Amino acid sequence: MSQIFLMGECMAELQEIEPGHLRQSFAGDFYNTAVYLKRAFAHIDTCLLTAVGNDKLSEAMLAHCAKEQLDCASVVRSPTRIPGLYWINTDAEGERTFTYWRENSAARQLMSLIDEVVRERLLHADWFFFSGISLAVLEPQDRPLFWALLADLKRAGVKIAFDPNYRARLWPDADTAKQNFEKAFGFCDLLLPGVDDFVQLYGLAEVNQIRALLSQFHIAEVVLKNGPAEICYIAGDALDIYPVTPASNVVDTTSAGDSFNGVFLGARMSGRSVATAIEWAARTAGLVIQHPGAIIPEQIFIDFWSGLTA
Ligand code: ADP
Repeated sequence: MSQIFLMGECMAELQEIEPGHLRQSFAGDFYNTAVYLKRAFAHIDTCLLTAVGNDKLSEAMLAHCAKEQLDCASVVRSPTRIPGLYWINTDAEGERTFTYWRENSAARQLMSLIDEVVRERLLHADWFFFSGISLAVLEPQDRPLFWALLADLKRAGVKIAFDPNYRARLWPDADTAKQNFEKAFGFCDLLLPGVDDFVQLYGLAEVNQIRALLSQFHIAEVVLKNGPAEICYIAGDALDIYPVTPASNVVDTTSAGDSFNGVFLGARMSGRSVATAIEWAARTAGLVIQHPGAIIPEQIFIDFWSGLTA
């Protein structure tokens, strides 16, 4: 069975569905990616690498992950901390704002909690996925441990996938984010950025400029996403363009990139061509944004997926 580890922070999500009434679920970019990967490709062992606490919310989170068939055997426990939380407020115009309580979350301590058993499992995986958010939330003094782990994984032949997913508020300044991302680019076999990452950090919006910037890192494959605009696939000197069919009824773009990443990774791990992987990933992201929330109802996904792959 092929196996992927996805590293990051899963949080409890609270959303006001009507004044005074909150709906609670779980989300986080790496978790969303894992859910869509596993829903679409049940045969792939999809393992989470994160830290939770010993509290009831952590138990509920793990139960939720198990319901999605995600492997939580390598999720570690912080003796002192609990999961992060965020609250989504939607105003009368439908504009969403997010309030976070994540500064002291268990996931931040991940690197200092990983033991030899977890390390061994990681070294035997086929793929390892992380994002700029996974990186940003690690305690800064623990990041050298992360880079050392990544180097070991690379040496062991584990393929590395990275999505910069730049969120300015998670970094002390843009230069620190850039330094960390460029380090990550150096390890990458597959880079899954959005054009927006390069606009915000480098002031680059043109594919050829982005390609020139990335050429120094010798990344085998880059899949460059750009909302409803075309997707660029860059491998060495080759550049292939894939059109996207804009969705007719965009409700909530949360998780567009995450669902894309999950399906793309799963399709490639299942031996599908780049063209098929991009088509399935883009069609899935196009569906996800027509529903509220990061994770769409399972039955809607199942019906869509069986139609897509029939
Ligand atoms: P992110 O969530 O990282 O910002 P993007 O907005 O670039 O990601 O979108 C990721 C993918 O989702 C796109 O490559 C595309 O396939 C799909 N997508 C995003 N917006 C739309 C849209 N309006 N219509 C159809 N597909 C979309």
